[in-house]
Amino acid sequence: MTRFVSIGEAMVEMAPLAKSGQFQMSFAGDTLNTAWYVRQLKPLWDVSYVTAVGQDQMSDQMVSFLQDTGIDTQYIQRLNNRTVGLYLIALKNGERHFSYWRGQAAARALAADPGTLDRSFSNADVLYFSGITLAILEGNGRARLLRSLARARAAGKLVAFDSNLRPRLWESDDHMRDWVTKAAETSDIVLPSHDDEAVHFGDAGPKATCERYAALGATTVVVKNGPGTIHYRHAGKSGVMQPAIVSDVVDTTAAGDSFNAGFLSQFVGGVSIDLAIHAASNVARRVIKGRGALVPL
Ligand code: ADP
Repeated sequence: MTRFVSIGEAMVEMAPLAKSGQFQMSFAGDTLNTAWYVRQLKPLWDVSYVTAVGQDQMSDQMVSFLQDTGIDTQYIQRLNNRTVGLYLIALKNGERHFSYWRGQAAARALAADPGTLDRSFSNADVLYFSGITLAILEGNGRARLLRSLARARAAGKLVAFDSNLRPRLWESDDHMRDWVTKAAETSDIVLPSHDDEAVHFGDAGPKATCERYAALGATTVVVKNGPGTIHYRHAGKSGVMQPAIVSDVVDTTAAGDSFNAGFLSQFVGGVSIDLAIHAASNVARRVIKGRGALVPL
């Protein structure tokens, strides 16, 4: 059995209902979304989420939600005097605007203890994290997480990373670029999205994004590109794939997260890179035709 471990921050989501002032509560977050889709796509895999939450009732609800979806929560740390982060979606002229409350989020301390991290990774076959996972970590958490991942990789586990650039979560753009580059150097598989990379790394096109990450040492790089051509590089060979375009897009939330789940669940299972990318884009196509981050497949 393959053991997939996703590391990051899950948050409470408050999404507006039709009646003004009312909201529906759920749970989401980039690395949680990917774990949730892997769970659906691979019922026989063991899917685990590594994070930290509080000991309050909202944290209990989040852990119960994960357990109910079949995600293993044994490595979730329960910290005293902390709680989970929250974001609220507001609609303005049909556009979604996000407000975040995550300063006190327990997840910021998920990498506080290297021993705990190492134990959570010890059974894994695949470890997945993102630029958001790194961005939110406090103290020396970023360096600790990358060191733990490097140890796991040296022990033969596969490390996969989505750069998921969110400049507002970082102290500066330079910090973001430095840490994302270090994270990619620690990874076997890098799954960036070209539009963000072009803005923050100045890549001329998806091929440039692909080559930049491949030069950092990853064996496999797949560059997502909205409805555009996907570029990849694997074991020294390059290629492209044009996804079938969706014209009736409902909501692009979690397009990239679900793509990553579709890709990893195939590729790690031994499927060829072309077929894995094809499967990944099919998963993302279904997700953008539904509303919200977690669309039942
Ligand atoms: P992110 O959500 O990280 O910004 P992208 O917007 O690049 O990621 O989308 C991820 C993947 O979702 C793309 O590589 C593609 O496979 C799929 N996708 C996104 N938008 C469309 C679309 N309009 N038509 C078809 N596929 C799409």
